[in-house]
Amino acid sequence: MKFCSECGSTSSLKIPLEDNRERVICDECGYIQYENPKIVVGTLCTYENKILLCKRAIEPRYGFWTLPAGFLELNESTREGATRETIEESGAEIIISKLYAIFDLPFCNQVHMFYLAHLQKPSLCPGHESLEARLFEINQIPWSELSFASVKKTLDIFVGCGKETSTAVYNEVLEKKNIASN
Ligand SMILES: [Zn+2]
Repeated sequence: MKFCSECGSTSSLKIPLEDNRERVICDECGYIQYENPKIVVGTLCTYENKILLCKRAIEPRYGFWTLPAGFLELNESTREGATRETIEESGAEIIISKLYAIFDLPFCNQVHMFYLAHLQKPSLCPGHESLEARLFEINQIPWSELSFASVKKTLDIFVGCGKETSTAVYNEVLEKKNIASN
């Protein structure tokens, strides 16, 4: 059972007038609770020929390696969010260069966006969401210990197709079966 965020009364799934899909609508005050996908923003940071990865200290995928990323906050641009998440998870000083990849994950109502960035210096200081932050040579990337399909795919295309040479932003719809990266 859902409750109205405005008045606390019970809400039900109904199709509002002039709409075409079910929404959570308050039985008392009629408030409509619209739900929309969440945006995850992150970075693929390089320093010389190395790539920054963080080992997750939180669920889901505790102990697996990830590109630094997290949910976009209110009143924040995607570029700001990606920078903030990278600092929070790795302590890295970075400069973002460009948007690199966008993944649609309609099965879990998320959009993942990754920017390319450069580390200013190789000193790292992982925050509480990371067990470890480390720079990996490309041939040392822990492919079997990556956290999410979008992370694996971003690294795949970066390693596989000429790194930054392509100007187009990569885009793919990821299906549920791809969620585990190994
Ligand atoms: Zn209400």
